[in-house]
Amino acid sequence: MKTITLLGSTGSIGTSTLDVIRRRPEQYRVFALVAGRNVEVLAAQVVEFRPEVAVVGSEEALDELAACLDRAGLPRTDWPELAAGDRARVEAATAPETDFVMSAIVGVAGLEATYEAVRRGKTVGLANKEVLVAAGAVVMEAARASGAELIPVDSEHNGAHQCLRAGRRSEVSRLILTASGGPFRNTPVEKLATVRPEEALNHPTWRMGKRITLDSATLMNKGFEVIEACWLFGFSPSEVEVVIHPQSTVHALVEFRDGSIIAQASATDMRMPIQYALTYPERQAAPVPKLDWSQARCWEFHPPDLNKFPLLRLAYQAFEEGGSAPCTLNAADEVAAEAFLKGQAGFLEIAEIVEETLERVPRRQPTSIGEVLEVDRESRRAAQRIVERRSAGRRGPLVRN
Ligand code: NDP
Repeated sequence: MKTITLLGSTGSIGTSTLDVIRRRPEQYRVFALVAGRNVEVLAAQVVEFRPEVAVVGSEEALDELAACLDRAGLPRTDWPELAAGDRARVEAATAPETDFVMSAIVGVAGLEATYEAVRRGKTVGLANKEVLVAAGAVVMEAARASGAELIPVDSEHNGAHQCLRAGRRSEVSRLILTASGGPFRNTPVEKLATVRPEEALNHPTWRMGKRITLDSATLMNKGFEVIEACWLFGFSPSEVEVVIHPQSTVHALVEFRDGSIIAQASATDMRMPIQYALTYPERQAAPVPKLDWSQARCWEFHPPDLNKFPLLRLAYQAFEEGGSAPCTLNAADEVAAEAFLKGQAGFLEIAEIVEETLERVPRRQPTSIGEVLEVDRESRRAAQRIVERRSAGRRGPLVRN
């Protein structure tokens, strides 16, 4: 039986993880459920999965969670230990009872708990991409020291993990990550200035949390994945290529020295990589319908347009530059994306704000999570100032009706 701490239980990955667990209750025990503010969903999860610990983001959310559990009629003697905040997240992820930590909090809020789990040698299912983008050097060093295994949950890296089992790492010449191309794949660049948040959040193939959905529309998400892949598998950026594959069925391809390519394809459903991470190195029956080969299907592959989607290019540059640049990239993108969603910046400005932040924030070589989080805060402040300066300088509304 695997005992699990689930960081980000109320999110898209979190609820899919619980669905995989729900199908095989004899295999898993949920030790801790960790969420932010969505106490209604968390309370329902507590009632169903009966964890020993439930953690929320703040003291306020803690009171609300207790009220929800009361309303749900769960006798107090059956309540898990309730806790809130950073320390509680770390304790849930490092508890001796836990042997598998699913890292699925969005943003750097999940960084410290994931890092501490790695440092203690836990097996980590890694969905949260900010962990390696912001703190790749520190986290990978901790994994080397503790022997912790990081199993990628992001579908592309999960696909790459599967393809790499086909041969020796030294025989691999290239990794190819696929991208759906997002909702603006066919939108002319001159129209991008006026696209609205609801259009950007309308992902063609995946249903995911807000941030990753918007990052998929700008291709920032693919840039983060290039960085993540370099850390996870020891590639240099020039060995990682991105191709647009609108069907999102082939998730990754690995090219071997002799030019042979092994591709991983599966249903477009995150429960596939989640189950793989939970059961690796074993495989179990699919949690979702398999690909149906009785239907004609067509898979397209195109090169990405780096002029239209400059954030992908910036991600390559930031990783090449190293040090704190990817951390600043991530922080600036989060601020710029939020400004776009609030109507304070246009779609094309997201990349401009990120680029300017990268120019302004001095580079450092963070050697601890504390230093990474300092760079993150500094970069956010710089990006926020750029957003405010641009908003103040603007005369009319961003998007005309
Ligand atoms: P969601 O926005 O759906 O969920 C985010 C989760 O993080 C929620 O459980 C939320 O809690 C929790 N959270 C946010 N802030 C805090 C905090 N301060 N303290 C504790 N918990 C917090 O995101 P996704 O599930 O889509 O994505 C999660 C991560 O996985 C991201 O890094 C994303 O890039 C990555 N990923 C996601 C994929 C997907 O298909 N969704 C695919 C590949 C990677 P609450 O809602 O209770 O506030």
